[in-house]
Amino acid sequence: MAIQLFVPTYRVDECIEEIRQCLELGWTGIGFKTVEFESAWRAYTGHKHAHFVNSATAGLHLAVKILKQVHGWQDGDEIVSTPLTFVSTNHAILYEKMKVVFADVDEHLCMDPEDLERRIGPRTRAVMFVGLGGNTGQYADILAICRKHRLPLILDGAHMAGTRLHGEMPGKEADVAVYSFQAVKNLPTADSGMICFADEEMDGICRKYTWLGINKDTYTRTHSAGNYKWKYDVEYLGYKYHGNSVMAAIGLVQLRYLDEDNRFRRQVAQWYEDRLGHGSSRAKPIPVAADCESSRHLFMIESGNRDELLHVLNDNEIYPGVHYRDNTDYAMYAYGQGTCPRAHDMSGRILSLPMHLQLREEDVDRVCEIVAAHAKE
Ligand SMILES: *Cc1c(COP(=O)(O)O)cnc(C)c1O
Repeated sequence: MAIQLFVPTYRVDECIEEIRQCLELGWTGIGFKTVEFESAWRAYTGHKHAHFVNSATAGLHLAVKILKQVHGWQDGDEIVSTPLTFVSTNHAILYEKMKVVFADVDEHLCMDPEDLERRIGPRTRAVMFVGLGGNTGQYADILAICRKHRLPLILDGAHMAGTRLHGEMPGKEADVAVYSFQAVKNLPTADSGMICFADEEMDGICRKYTWLGINKDTYTRTHSAGNYKWKYDVEYLGYKYHGNSVMAAIGLVQLRYLDEDNRFRRQVAQWYEDRLGHGSSRAKPIPVAADCESSRHLFMIESGNRDELLHVLNDNEIYPGVHYRDNTDYAMYAYGQGTCPRAHDMSGRILSLPMHLQLREEDVDRVCEIVAAHAKE
């Protein structure tokens, strides 16, 4: 039997029941379940504001856009980010005509605080931190540097649904945190995400931007009866980025099980650690930061013969992944080549082993036997 990297799990009957409510009411768009999901997410995470969007990519774009607008940043101003991420993180910066400056990663494969300090210059305006695989890395140190230099922090929490640090949900200290509920993330819907601004005004601006820039306040304030619904104002060149009730219906069910599911993911990670960690094989697991209870979206190892190991695993019907290729290897970010040696080196060594809720201990045995037999320093 093949062992896949990701197999999303849905409590089908419960999802259908939530979706049924949308269909029976005839309300599948924004409102209804999106409002319910936003408030459930706020209650779960402790974020003051949460706005449901159609993807984390859309959320990251608006995070950069709104910070830029409110703070009056210029085109060409810089945001320090990581090269070891899904391109969506860095595209979000380019969408707003700002420049991505890359900082190298640490042993957790998250941004290295010391390298971040070296990258801060006169045009640096913000920092983008990615909690890779659910790991918090040196998040607290990154935050301290941001505070010291008065730089806003954007948290790409695409892998971090349910991650805790010192028992607390991280992200509330950031100026904005963005989560992904894409099809293969650890809280899968099909496509959606959540954007959580610390600031109420920015949350308000964001809600306009996700629906074409339409300002509903003008009619809700004066004409709540509904006759004047068409008499809204349009303040911004906004986007069609808001989420819908069908996605939110699935999200509501997934959220109920998130802690339980993440606990199982940590169990799977422990099975891997027991077999591959502590120097018992030449494949080295990427360490989770101390006091981080990771969502375990990913279980990553490094191996000196990564490509060969991928082939052997594939030959045995085991399908791992790579998260991620050093973004400076891509043509459009090639200007950053050579600036982050550790990220570059690790990008050739890392692989993500199968991690999902259908895995059994025997599956982990099978994967680890092959990894232990073939991994090289
Ligand atoms: C998946 C992912 C995104 C984008 O999420 P979408 O919801 O698919 O837009 C952003 N950043 C990281 C690190 C991701 O893994």
